[in-house]
Amino acid sequence: MNRRDFIKNTAIASAASVAGLSVPSFAAGEEEWRWDKAVCRFCGTGCGIMVARKDGKIVAVKGDPAAPVNRGLNCIKGYFNAKIMYGEDRITMPLLRVNEKGEFDKKGKFKQVSWQRAFDEMEKQFKRVYNELGVTGIGVFGSGQYTIPEGYAAVKLIKGGFRSNNIDPNARHCMASAVVGFYQTFGVDEPAGCYDDIELTDTIITWGANMAEMHPILWSRVSDRKLNNLDKVKIVNLSTYSNRTSNIADLEIIFKPSTDLAIWNYIAREIVYNHPQAMDKKFVDKHCIFATGFADIGYGMRANPNHPKFSESEKDTVMKQKVITIDDDEAVSLGYLGVKVGDKFEMKHSDVSDAHWEISFEDFKKALAPYTLDYVAKVAKGDDNESLDEFKRKLQELAKLYIEKNRKVVSFWTMGFNQHTRGSWVNEQAYMVHLLLGKQSKPGNGAFSLTGQPSACGTAREVGTFSHRLPADMLVANPKHREITEKVWKLPSKTLNPKPGSPYLKIMRDLEDGVIKFIWVQVNNPWHNTANANHWIKAAREMDNFIVVSDPYPGISAKVGDLILPTAMIYEKWGAYGNAERRTQHWKQQVLPVGQAMSDTWQMMEFAKRFKLKEVWKESKVDDKLTLPNVLEEAKAMGYSEDDTLYDVLFANADAKKFSANDPIIGDFDNTEVKGDERAVIGSDGKEFKGYGFFVQKYLWEEYRKFGVGEGHDLADFDTYHQVRGLRWPVVNGKETQWRFNTQFDYYAKKAAPNSDFAFYGKLLKAVKRGDLTKPTTEETYPLPNKAKIFFRPFMKAPETPSKEYPFWLCTGRILEHWHSGTMTMRVPELYRAAPEALCYMHEDDCAKLSLKQGDVIWIESRRGKVKARIDMRGRNKPPVGLVYVPWFDENVFINKVCLDATCPLSGETDFKKCAVKITKA
Ligand code: SF4
Repeated sequence: MNRRDFIKNTAIASAASVAGLSVPSFAAGEEEWRWDKAVCRFCGTGCGIMVARKDGKIVAVKGDPAAPVNRGLNCIKGYFNAKIMYGEDRITMPLLRVNEKGEFDKKGKFKQVSWQRAFDEMEKQFKRVYNELGVTGIGVFGSGQYTIPEGYAAVKLIKGGFRSNNIDPNARHCMASAVVGFYQTFGVDEPAGCYDDIELTDTIITWGANMAEMHPILWSRVSDRKLNNLDKVKIVNLSTYSNRTSNIADLEIIFKPSTDLAIWNYIAREIVYNHPQAMDKKFVDKHCIFATGFADIGYGMRANPNHPKFSESEKDTVMKQKVITIDDDEAVSLGYLGVKVGDKFEMKHSDVSDAHWEISFEDFKKALAPYTLDYVAKVAKGDDNESLDEFKRKLQELAKLYIEKNRKVVSFWTMGFNQHTRGSWVNEQAYMVHLLLGKQSKPGNGAFSLTGQPSACGTAREVGTFSHRLPADMLVANPKHREITEKVWKLPSKTLNPKPGSPYLKIMRDLEDGVIKFIWVQVNNPWHNTANANHWIKAAREMDNFIVVSDPYPGISAKVGDLILPTAMIYEKWGAYGNAERRTQHWKQQVLPVGQAMSDTWQMMEFAKRFKLKEVWKESKVDDKLTLPNVLEEAKAMGYSEDDTLYDVLFANADAKKFSANDPIIGDFDNTEVKGDERAVIGSDGKEFKGYGFFVQKYLWEEYRKFGVGEGHDLADFDTYHQVRGLRWPVVNGKETQWRFNTQFDYYAKKAAPNSDFAFYGKLLKAVKRGDLTKPTTEETYPLPNKAKIFFRPFMKAPETPSKEYPFWLCTGRILEHWHSGTMTMRVPELYRAAPEALCYMHEDDCAKLSLKQGDVIWIESRRGKVKARIDMRGRNKPPVGLVYVPWFDENVFINKVCLDATCPLSGETDFKKCAVKITKA
């Protein structure tokens, strides 16, 4: 096989199928099928699909040839989008834990109940907690897999209605570090570039992104690009273990976990010290400043290492939250702070981890000085079986590709960067190199953060389902932003709570501390997907709290919950997702939900009916410093009655009712929320649900998009999206935007700086102090209109590294066939058979040392817990000596019991990629 054939075959294997698995074929009778466009349920690539309905079921799925993202192709998960809805154990009725008398009992068994009984209990428990603990006593685990209207409804209900900011999505686990990188560097979230860069670039460099398995359709586009110009187009894969993305790479660089920070600084050093002519000085002078922040910021663990819930074995890692001892490697990288080997380095700035200030170019250059080839090669070489000289050659080759003057370069990354105790820093470092070279925001050039979930961008980020956010990049802590939001939502002023809520992991810790006692899980599986899981399972099952899980399947979270609400899945409702290239895509309800399942939007609206304004908009204490005022008088002045419900005010108001149930967009399609449906579901009031009678989804969309129009987040109207295959925002005068910040392509850049070529016009964090490498030295802040920041960030190690007792690195992640916690894909027989269990990928030398064979069952044990898995030495992932890789989709190999719950202190995103384990034969 020649190289061309090899690449082609590899790309097809990644994108379309896996060994022994064929894509679904279509049966006879196709002429009776109704085909319609939709969007894939899974990854952030955002492929368009076509779904066919017959007799009330989705009977076929194919790639949408008109979709610009995937041009008719799907990966193997995409082809099974329909089958995920028809698993045998689909939950079809609410289930409540009850005792023999039918009363709620935390220790009881699940029993089917009516929607009315479910909502009665939920209301009772919510009110108990809300009245006892106030707005901070409740929490919602939301999702980057919510549809946009669902996420919007959730933010409106929780933040606007209940005045709590304790809602946070699973996207916190996925791309919160990317968000911080965007905010800090550009003042606005989400990528400058788009997927068109793949066809326009000469170089694709993946950092901690196994695109061949995680973004297979994008990878097929990368493979095509490579095949079109084998010699010119170069691909580099940087990873801590060898994976399928390396199959077509010209260069594979295996680095030690966390040393990506050092490698970026090496490239920057090469630019400023050895190739200054490669720097785009004009671009940097005109459009950028240099910046840095504190290094002593901890690792996002609990502040108290002696917290009573920690086991003894956990404590020495958690101590690092307070202080670390400087070793040989960090003595070099943190030398600019005056530290030496053996010094105690106290984490004094963990409360202000995101503080940063402007520095001079001379200071920036000075800080890069230690990152010589010799130093970086020594700390970063990840494969013991590779020579130091060979690793150095590879680093030089990598730097050369970035630096080459006329070479276009795109850097892609995902969880390898984002799930990192310095995840926000390493995102910023990618921009550092691209900005220095002027290879950013240009066709074929740019640092591009890929997204894991189908609507992490559209819902979690743009809608603002994070605990600190409001729609369109606005923040709960900003009084102007709250005022804008209160106006759009028609709330009395000062209804919104100005204190950011607890981010994801803190909600779990708050639950463990008994300061949150009511949780609602939506489109998420937090008890499966949160690191250090033993703690959270105990907290859920053994404490006085009430956990509601809206879920179509009994995953781990549903099983630890107290009430399970059967939820409509993707094509059983109207929806919209936003993908990684800012493309918003809508779809219509194709079929009725299974059983008595109802959508998350419906569940929220029904729950909202049970709260009168006087119960939620009264005075409410948040903490010793903050009490939310009673806003009922102003509410009355606005025409509300204190007996109005949150449903009346937030969802079924006069504006909403203007959106007709007879809108021609609905046509022949079902719309359960608007019209009810033939299942005649008995709703939350014990009566048949016959629909709200107005076009809920269109109302939510049109209200939501008011936030972004004119603010650089412009979305098109509802009807437009039903005619196109998505549009990339900002959509101005009907035109989408391919490259932001570039005045040739971006309306807002042109508007901000009509006579310039670029304008980094984001508004957040755009006034900073000035200082040296150690601290800010001015009190005054200086505005940075239209500028981006080039950050210096030092190399630091992970808080837990292999030791004598726990000698292996553990890295976790996904595989092609399974999506996240497997609740959907493990129910598709073809995908289940292709990968029925999570394996522990391990190097053969390590196995030989431990007398282990292929297929042996082993214990993987950390300071926090242990799980059993089967060894694979020959498969798709090939770790270097000293590292094991375990996917997390399989609830029988519950690897999050083992993982450490350290996070990036700036973003709160957990580092699932680095902790220390031992391996023993089971
Ligand atoms: S899983 Fe991702 S790559 Fe595969 S079809 Fe769906 S969106 Fe496309």
